[in-house]
Amino acid sequence: MDTHNTDSGARLDEQIRLEEIRLLYGGTPFSYSASFVIVLIIYNVLLGHVTSPQNLNIWLFTILGILFARSIDSYLFSTKDKKEQSKHSWRLRFFAGTGIAGFCWGLLPWFGYSSEIEYFSFIIVCLVGVIAGSLSTLSYRWETIALFLLPASLLLVLRLIIEDQTFFNATSFVLLVFIFFSLSAGKKIFNNTQQNIRLRLEADTRERAIELMHQKQALHLQNTPLAIIEFDIDLNVTEWNKAAEHIFGYSREEALDENVMRLVLLRDSSLEAERLWQQLLSYEPVIGAVIENKTRSGTPVICEWFVTPLTGEQNEIVGIAAMALDISEKKQNELAILKSKEEAEKANQAKSDFLSSMSHELRTPLNAILGFTQLLKYEKALTEKQQSHISEISNAGNLLLELVNQILDLARIEKGHLQLSMEKVALADCFKEVRAMILPLAKKNKLTINIDTQTRGYVIADFTRLKQVMLNLLSNAIKYNIESGSVTLEVRQNEANMVRISIIDTGKGISKELLQEIFQPFNRLNAASQIEGTGIGLSISKQLVEMMNGSIGVRSKVNEGSEFWIELSGNIDITTTKQSDSKPPHSDRLLATASNTDHSILVAEDNPTNQALIVSQLEALGYTADLVKDGQEALNKMVNTDYQLLITDCNMPLVDGYKLARTIRERGNHTLPIIALTADAFPERKAECLKAGMDDQITKPVDLQTLKDTLEKYLN
Ligand code: ADP
Repeated sequence: MDTHNTDSGARLDEQIRLEEIRLLYGGTPFSYSASFVIVLIIYNVLLGHVTSPQNLNIWLFTILGILFARSIDSYLFSTKDKKEQSKHSWRLRFFAGTGIAGFCWGLLPWFGYSSEIEYFSFIIVCLVGVIAGSLSTLSYRWETIALFLLPASLLLVLRLIIEDQTFFNATSFVLLVFIFFSLSAGKKIFNNTQQNIRLRLEADTRERAIELMHQKQALHLQNTPLAIIEFDIDLNVTEWNKAAEHIFGYSREEALDENVMRLVLLRDSSLEAERLWQQLLSYEPVIGAVIENKTRSGTPVICEWFVTPLTGEQNEIVGIAAMALDISEKKQNELAILKSKEEAEKANQAKSDFLSSMSHELRTPLNAILGFTQLLKYEKALTEKQQSHISEISNAGNLLLELVNQILDLARIEKGHLQLSMEKVALADCFKEVRAMILPLAKKNKLTINIDTQTRGYVIADFTRLKQVMLNLLSNAIKYNIESGSVTLEVRQNEANMVRISIIDTGKGISKELLQEIFQPFNRLNAASQIEGTGIGLSISKQLVEMMNGSIGVRSKVNEGSEFWIELSGNIDITTTKQSDSKPPHSDRLLATASNTDHSILVAEDNPTNQALIVSQLEALGYTADLVKDGQEALNKMVNTDYQLLITDCNMPLVDGYKLARTIRERGNHTLPIIALTADAFPERKAECLKAGMDDQITKPVDLQTLKDTLEKYLN
């Protein structure tokens, strides 16, 4: 900014200097012509009265010679362009010429001396006149005044002093005073002219800048996509550019002097427009207001407005300047994006709802399939072949159950319904449990498992979900391994202070291309069809690890094996083990050897297959039970019989399981153990059951062992 100011200041000084020299040279035709005439008059008057006519002739030719030379110089100057004229040499030539001319005029009293006092006085008058006259033409530079005035006047004064007559002495005194005043007047004139030149040049520059600005504005006004509209205080249009014509459809001629509101305002937007108008009247500009306007044909057009009041001398509002941008397309795109986003969300929601209700519904038939196959396994009358078929049904049923559970998990994660309970999880506890769970599978596939169950340290995670992830990774490492291969679990702390748990297998590995898709749901890559799987385990694992603020990754080499790792915050230098909740050891003999019929049990279940199943399961365990098909029947039944335990389905017609439990507790029976049969094992379902007054929950498909443990827990 400073350099810019200095630059423009220097430029202005240069322009002033050029202007000065041009003005000085510009005055020469008049002053030289005047000088020529005066010289001739003086010569004619003095000739015949001077002491030495020869000297007068010398003076005449000298001064005419100088006039001639200076005229040539002036002419040459006038033929040059500005750049040439601004050269310093012209200034020096002019100064020199002025000094010489002043000296020549100063020689007049010497060369044109006359002893006749009236003729000498004539010389004085002429000289004073010439000096005074030159003031106006030389005043553009202070030096030129001094250079002309001083030699001319001082030589005259000197001549008068030499004469030494009282009259001349007095005259020379007056002349000195005249010189002094002329110099100071010359200085003042010079200062004023300087000031004038500066102001004029500055004004010229400003004018040019304004002109340029106007040109640019006119260009922008015509070519901008912004509608530029101005209107007076009565709302009549005074300016209407091309873009306004384009956006609103009225030509400039049609729009001028018309009421702007009538032209562009939709009736629906009038309230908003009124509010903005009031805002403008209180001198507050409107910035980015979005208004639905109309075009000439009545089509709506959405515009973004920037409006500001224009004020007059007294700060009164004299008009309004407005800019409007047509954002209809942008708005339409935004709406379309919003709509498609909503639709996508809806579709996703519908998909999640469908998945969760489908997997929920699948549990009921699965309960029957798995429950009855489990019962059949204990049927002694079956042949070996039949037992093998039952095993197949059981395996397929379990795989289906796993798929249903995983789909439910996926749907719950997507809906944001899955809640985690983050805590410090001791690695040793977690490893012990998962090792115990995968050992049978490893044994079956003849694999070596290397898991250090004494590992120190902890991670911040949800214990159950961490186990789920690790089980998935470990069972994959086993499933996709080679015969007699191995699976190794390694733990280390990485640079970012995260604990990395790696599961390394010696399997066939995964190619680079397939690795890119490995975390996509339902993608089984090229897994051999005989290897059981659903293709969602890794996708769920990824989402679960991320929900636990961690990350999951994989590296693999074909024919060498894979390493899947998860990273969670934690520390491996601290030993934190909690005694894992040890379940009471299962009795080896599952089926009842003696009857438990002295216990009176009531079962409420509406589904006939499930009714048959639970009754059979209870029978297999040596229990008998009364069966009712809904809550209301159960309540009726309980009026006459004192039951020791109630097993109830949750979803039943009329009075459901929750209502049944609540009513029993409300009626003052707080000792009857109530066990819920629920379709899922989600924590919120269990919480719902407990809240309704139930004691425990068994998840369908009902496992015989779980049923047995629960009954023993509440009946003994
Ligand atoms: P699933 O194992 O039920 O098919 P996952 O989501 O757990 O589903 O795994 C997706 C796919 O990734 C598997 O079908 C398999 O092709 C591949 N995969 C997973 N883990 C391994 C592994 N350790 N070695 C080789 N391939 C694997």
